[in-house]
Formats: sequence, C-alpha cells, structure tokens
Amino acid sequence: MKLLVTGGAGFIGSVVAAQLVEAGHAVTVLDDLSTGHADAVPAGATFVEGSITEPGDLTGFDAVLHFAARSLVGESVEHPDRYWANNLGGTLTLLDEMRGAGVGRIVFSSTASVYGEPERTPIRESDPTRPGNPYGASKLAVDTALTTFANLYGLAAVSLRYFNVAGAYGRFAERHTPETHLIPNVLKVALGERDSMNLFGSDYPTQDGTCVRDYVHVADLARAHLLALDACTPGIHRIYNLGNGTGFSNQEVIDVCREVTGHEIPVVAAPRRPGDPAVLVASSDLIQRELGWKPEHNTLRSIVGDAWAALR
Ligand code: UDP
Repeated sequence: MKLLVTGGAGFIGSVVAAQLVEAGHAVTVLDDLSTGHADAVPAGATFVEGSITEPGDLTGFDAVLHFAARSLVGESVEHPDRYWANNLGGTLTLLDEMRGAGVGRIVFSSTASVYGEPERTPIRESDPTRPGNPYGASKLAVDTALTTFANLYGLAAVSLRYFNVAGAYGRFAERHTPETHLIPNVLKVALGERDSMNLFGSDYPTQDGTCVRDYVHVADLARAHLLALDACTPGIHRIYNLGNGTGFSNQEVIDVCREVTGHEIPVVAAPRRPGDPAVLVASSDLIQRELGWKPEHNTLRSIVGDAWAALR
C-alpha cells in the first residue's frame, strides 16, 4: 500500500514507519521536525518536511497513519491553544484533505490520557472518558471526530489508545527535549548525563507508595498498527487500548534499570507531579480478541534492556 505516516520522525511514528517499510509498503513520512528528528526517518521511506496543517495533495495514498501531535501534558495546561490548534485543528485539516483526495483509511495515535483518573483497573474502552488536561481532551476530540466521519462519510478508522510506551526498536530510541518520561530519565543518570533522578511521589495508595503504570514495548505497539491497518472497515471507527495489561511501579522500574545498567542511580524523593493518577493499567483484551494482537516483550527487563542497548 501507499501510506502517509504523519509524525514519522518521532519515536513511535518512526518505529511504525520502519515496520511498514519492512512489510513492503511504500511509505511517505510527513513531519515538521518540531519535536522529531530527520535521522529517525527509516531508510526506504520518503521524507517530506511539512505540517499536518498544510498536508498538500493526498491523491494516490491508500491510508494515513497519524502520529503528528503535541504531547506534553504540562505544556497543554499552560498553552491549551497549541493543543486545540495543532492536535484537533491540524487533524481536521488532514481529514478534509483525505476526504478530498478519496483516502478512506486512518489509524490514529490516541492515548490513555482520554480516561483521566480511572474509576477501576484495568481500564476498558467502554469506561468513561474524562481527560484531566487539554492534551487528553484534544486527543479525545479527534476520537470523537473520527466516529462522526466514519458514520457520515464512510471513513475507515482505528484509534489506538497507548498507555506507557517504552523500549526501543533497534537504533530507534526515545529522544525528547525536554524529557518527561520515567525510563529515559532514569537511563540518563546511568549514562552520566545527570547526577540523580527525581521520583515524583512516594505516598500513593499502591504497594510501595509509587505510581503504577502499564509499559508497552514500542515494537509490540508498532505491530498493532499494522494489524489495525488491515482491520480498517469503511463506516466503522474501532477504538482499542494498547498496554501490556500489567502494572509496574516507579520503584520497580528504577530497580530494573539498576539491574540492567549496573549503575546505582541515585534517586531524590520529590513531591507528587500534579495530575498523575496513582494507577494506570490497560485492559487490552479487545485488541487481543478482535485483531489477534499479543505483546511479545512484556517484561520490564526486555523493555528497559532494549532502551538501554539503543542508547549505548
Ligand atoms: N516520573 C518520575 N520521575 C521522572 C519522570 C516520571 O517519578 O523523572 C513518574 C511520573 O510521576 C509517573 C511515572 O513516572 O508517576 C510515569 O511518568 P511518565 O511521564 O513516564 O508517563 P505518564 O504516565 O505520565 O504518561
């Protein structure tokens, strides 16, 4: 298929683009490099530097895999306009261009943030969506638009709601500036780029007092996009959670990082980070049942081990 991957110079987009190229698809990456890296675009893909707000003529593409978005929760609270303009406004422009060019399939990068503070664990797709910040709200708004476009225009859409994506795919590793995520921040200490890391909150109602998250390996996550592409059905918007179904506490993550790197990794106990729910764990039963997806690298050791190998 001829595929457009928006945001394909970012961490997740570049891994999906690499797997699509490996599967024999003709891939074009559209990325404005606001947070991505041109050298992350996989060999074999065509790179176009540009924004989803001006995607150009999409005639000839069979489908779009849409990753381009702003994704910093803190920034979204301070500058919600950026999130509405880019994540929602940009996506509506992209959808318009797709419709004009007769491109009828989209796989969308959604997020666990649409659920906000969950009422129960693990979280199912049918649970209430009450995002606690403009980032999650803008992603939920796109999910809602996709449902409407499927009903009205026959769009074939799949939204994948990611939990905590980590690990690496060969040389494709996480490189965010600023880095807000736990595993890369812990590994920065092991690399000697920082003296210590801040552990946000040790008084949560969890087994060891630290937050619990559901880490999914980026290689497993990317594979789900290829299954989603095949599952696209005109007039239907499917929504799936993507996690590995097991929660790991921040303390467990730090302990495994210590084991994998052999570094003592000094930790500074810091206050809770505003807006962090105590536990976020996905039920991925639906995508496992309907699309046959199964996480293959579901131990913290393999997730951290691959992230570490890519950084060294
Ligand atoms: N966290 C931390 N120190 C850091 C980065 C993150 O203690 O330097 C904690 C954060 O407060 C949360 C967990 O690690 O409890 C996962 O945060 P991350 O930003 O990786 O993902 P999120 O779940 O917020 O999407």
